[in-house]
Amino acid sequence: MDVVIKNCYVLTNNRVLKNKTIHIEDGVIKRITEKVECEADFVIDGKNMLAIPGLINMHTHAAMTLFRGLADDMNLMKWLQEEIWPIEKNLKPHHVYYSTLLATIEMIKSGTTCFNDMYFYIDQIYRACRDIGIRGYISFAMFDFGDENKAKEYIKEAESSIKKFSNDSLVKITLAPHAPYTCSEYLLRRTKELADRYDLLIHTHLSESRDEFKKFLDEKGKTPIEYLNSIEFLSDRVIAAHCVWVTNKDISILKDRNVTVVHNPVSNIKLANGIARIYEMLRENVNVCIGTDGAASNNNLNLLEEMKFVALLQKHRYRNPEVLNVWDVFRMATINAARVLRENLGIIKEGYKADIVLINLKNTRMMPFTNLISHLIYSADSSCIDTVIIDGKVIMLNQKILTINEEYVYEKFKEVVMDLYEISNKKDKLLNFAEI
Ligand SMILES: [Zn+2]
Repeated sequence: MDVVIKNCYVLTNNRVLKNKTIHIEDGVIKRITEKVECEADFVIDGKNMLAIPGLINMHTHAAMTLFRGLADDMNLMKWLQEEIWPIEKNLKPHHVYYSTLLATIEMIKSGTTCFNDMYFYIDQIYRACRDIGIRGYISFAMFDFGDENKAKEYIKEAESSIKKFSNDSLVKITLAPHAPYTCSEYLLRRTKELADRYDLLIHTHLSESRDEFKKFLDEKGKTPIEYLNSIEFLSDRVIAAHCVWVTNKDISILKDRNVTVVHNPVSNIKLANGIARIYEMLRENVNVCIGTDGAASNNNLNLLEEMKFVALLQKHRYRNPEVLNVWDVFRMATINAARVLRENLGIIKEGYKADIVLINLKNTRMMPFTNLISHLIYSADSSCIDTVIIDGKVIMLNQKILTINEEYVYEKFKEVVMDLYEISNKKDKLLNFAEI
């Protein structure tokens, strides 16, 4: 299907262009012209619209929308061990399908067109991505806690998943050893071999909390990053979420090994893990992107909100309002992600994939008509997101999702939450309406 966006403003990676018409064919931006007259299957009036490249959420666990608000205000390990892991044991495939679908609706409505996910039942995650039409990098979390047989099972499962999903251009598979503290050296080494053999990315958590950092220093005499470097795990294939607890030496290892760091500021400060040294990492030319983490620790999947936190927290951390300008933050949510994903994404340019978001400029949050990139980072919210195009298909038009029935998803989500909380003996967490 050909799509044309007529007469809009376009945000490039360093400025705003006006009165442009974007021609999309076969999922690709074919031309950007001044001409307004044109024919296409789908013509969108871009008057009062700013076209931006779709935002890329580089670390999340989409299906954890199931656990939004389940356990707030807790320490990370206690939160995982006492609340999250026990209920996750009861997950069924259809729980993951509907909760992922719900998450993708939330992401699309806040301008995200691509996400990098780590969870369970990836067949269901794949199906959800395909049904709504969002670009996804999907993986199942592997954690063997030192059990070699378990590690072998994971590697076998990973190989069959790789074969199953290898030919899809919209939804791609990555490998996800959960973290160095939950995975054996054996599993980490085998994952690296598999990634090299099949040319895949590796998605992991790294140096998230002080406890993790201290544990590695106490037990191995190395930081978590030094440890992964010592077993030759790190490379340009590695997407490492968090990296909050890092030394100067760790930053140079990340740079030397071309590791991509995903900054998840809201999750990090909510769990009181700290504020990562992003400004210094960027200054040392480490590739840094942005993620929301899951809805259990954020508690939403809104990258607009996350970008604002990124900017504010770095200024606060370094006691300097000049660190990280709006363009730096915007690049983190777009082209820095495209760089590690090795895709023509993250910029509106001829020959690039047509993942485009239209921002409605007739919204008080985008006024006055002056510094639009500033409004996008510091002021915009989901109410500004009007239309979303992914891989050349119009997924949302005038704030309405076209590819699935939202009401149906909300009803099914409600059902799976009831089911999961009931079998997990957490019925008390469901809302009880007082009888009058
Ligand atoms: Zn995470």
